[in-house]
Amino acid sequence: MTPVLEVRDLRVRFDTPDGEVEAVRGIDFDLAPGESLGVVGESGSGKTQAFMAILGLLAENGSATGVARYRGEDLMAMSPSELNRHRGHDIAMIFQDPMTALNPYLSIEKQMVEVVMHHQGLGHAEARAHAIEMLRAVRIPDPEQRIDQYPHEFSGGMRQRITIAMGLLCEPDILVADEPTTALDVTVQAQIARLVGDIARRSHMSSVLITHDLGAVAGVCDRVMVMYAGQVVETGSVGDIFSAPRHPYTQGLLASMPRLDRIDDVLPAIPGNPPNLSDIPAGCAFRARCSRAFEACGEPPPLHPLGGDRASRCHLEDAP
Ligand code: SF4
Repeated sequence: MTPVLEVRDLRVRFDTPDGEVEAVRGIDFDLAPGESLGVVGESGSGKTQAFMAILGLLAENGSATGVARYRGEDLMAMSPSELNRHRGHDIAMIFQDPMTALNPYLSIEKQMVEVVMHHQGLGHAEARAHAIEMLRAVRIPDPEQRIDQYPHEFSGGMRQRITIAMGLLCEPDILVADEPTTALDVTVQAQIARLVGDIARRSHMSSVLITHDLGAVAGVCDRVMVMYAGQVVETGSVGDIFSAPRHPYTQGLLASMPRLDRIDDVLPAIPGNPPNLSDIPAGCAFRARCSRAFEACGEPPPLHPLGGDRASRCHLEDAP
């Protein structure tokens, strides 16, 4: 099946007062039509910056190279106005904090209806009906009345659901949700992650869920891409990653996940912190935190293909 998005050798750099920081260090992946991909990693792993670069949303001190083909057209080579045509319409991104996506001074109606009128060329009444339908899809109660309210009149969970509805307004091919649940309590987090997955599946949309929480992708995504220090360190189906993780970092993430059958256990956290991206040590970037490091780890490991869509960036795959 031809991928809806093909990313090759994507690199993102930032000029900072401490020098150049390479936040994304050559990542490759495909997103199939209708597929749901979980992108997992600690903060600073490059997961958000990779998608900001693809959508032309990097901060002013950032720059990116590589290829990101959406239905064959390279988004990275487009002018800002061409990219603007695809953003929101073909590829929509939902951000961490709903208050940054919603204008506090405009009613939800004003914010949603104008987007539909602009992107889909509908009249006001049709656009309002479509917006109400989207609010209903994300389970906002009484959407016919509540659409006229302002963001501060909704709870945090509802505001996040409204931003999802806004992301879905133009029926994009790809929905990118960046930690859509960080600001919410655990129960609402699980509901929102499931909601994004359900809507994407029902609408045959491809989706990307960016999260630091490996648990959030279970039951929601088809495939997982684990990132560390700007690189992909493991990929595989959700089933494979959860039942047989190959990379020591993925194994550490999985071991530190709360589980219902181990409610009293003290969860082992991965020791240490991710490396400073302006000064990444030679060899494997995970070496200082890895309990299985050995002599070969002084050299950077390649991403070893493991058959099917599995791969792991670890020298243990070479070890006898
Ligand atoms: Fe650990 Fe070495 Fe594998 Fe890196 S390459 S994850 S240090 S075993």
